[in-house]
Amino acid sequence: MPNISLGIIGGGQLGSMLTVAAKKLGIKVIIYCDDTNGPAQNFCDEYICGSYDDHNKINEFVDKVDAVTFEFENIPFKTLDEINKTKPVLPKPSVNRIIQHRLAEKDFVNKLNIRTTRYATVDKKSDLESLGDLLPGILKTTTLGYDGKGQYPINSLEEIDSLNIDFTKDYILEKLVKLKKEISVIITRFGIYNYEIYEPIENKHEDQILKYSEIPADISQKILDQSKEWTIMLAEELKYIGTMCVEFFVDKNDNLFVNEIAPRVHNSGHLTINAFNISQFENHIRAVCKLEKIPLKKLSNAKMVNLIGEDILHYRQDPFLEKNQFFFDYLKKEVKKKRKMGHLTTLK
Ligand code: ADP
Ligand code: MG
Repeated sequence: MPNISLGIIGGGQLGSMLTVAAKKLGIKVIIYCDDTNGPAQNFCDEYICGSYDDHNKINEFVDKVDAVTFEFENIPFKTLDEINKTKPVLPKPSVNRIIQHRLAEKDFVNKLNIRTTRYATVDKKSDLESLGDLLPGILKTTTLGYDGKGQYPINSLEEIDSLNIDFTKDYILEKLVKLKKEISVIITRFGIYNYEIYEPIENKHEDQILKYSEIPADISQKILDQSKEWTIMLAEELKYIGTMCVEFFVDKNDNLFVNEIAPRVHNSGHLTINAFNISQFENHIRAVCKLEKIPLKKLSNAKMVNLIGEDILHYRQDPFLEKNQFFFDYLKKEVKKKRKMGHLTTLK
């Protein structure tokens, strides 16, 4: 058993699943989270609650761990960079600085000659008036968006006034892609061209929130190969250590676009817990704790459904699970509309 204390920033469902994977490997887990109700406290060895810029509290946390990783990308860069001066933060903070800003992220991807949607920056209302050729499009805040938060679909210039857009924030406007489907590719990188990559996962969203993920994805060999190749290129260029995910769009003409990169484990990869010998969570822990890399083996096809809001209640009360079904309750205290409460994976 390795004698390692791992610090994880963020105590939601991803932090919980990372913790469970780490505990299985005999690693001590200390969570730092700004939410007194974070569900990961049900699984970790120690749970420290504080804000992400409280230096004293953060130092108390850092003193107790050998290395630090995180469950979400929106931790202030300054905080991660400070921690990294005394204990290794993996993936490294510079990765976050690029990815937590939609413009820096898209510029980074395009520099590698990897296709994204067309986009432009929007700092004020008048910027939109010259961007008619990007409509219909989606206006997205450059920072802090998730699950469709901070996004305004715009069909025409006439609509703008009625949308009550908060122009104190910075945005990018993205051309709407005529979607055939969405896929994601998850990779865990351990070092230079040393990685394990999962096959593309097909994703369906409802209200811009992920609802279903499934393998195998129903895509052409060309899309399969290209999505994996681009994911490897992005991970290598970022010198990434740990698990990351690339979200892609496939349009009606079978063109592939990178939508965004998640520098962390990803909701679409929950099915890897049951469908592979090593889950995205265990692989992340193995990579950031410098443990052995085990060759990845698929065990089964699978479909995952996210249980959002009150969806969870039925499964809590009366699960009726088949042998090939696995129900996960994130143990969040309050059921809220649009909140991810749990998931169900069915092996096929
Ligand atoms: P988030 O950070 O909230 O995940 P995304 O940029 O991934 O933001 O957008 C959420 C979802 O909204 C996408 O998965 C997709 O279904 C839809 N969407 C976002 N941008 C576009 C676009 N340019 N064209 C078509 N659909 C889009
Ligand atoms: Mg997304």
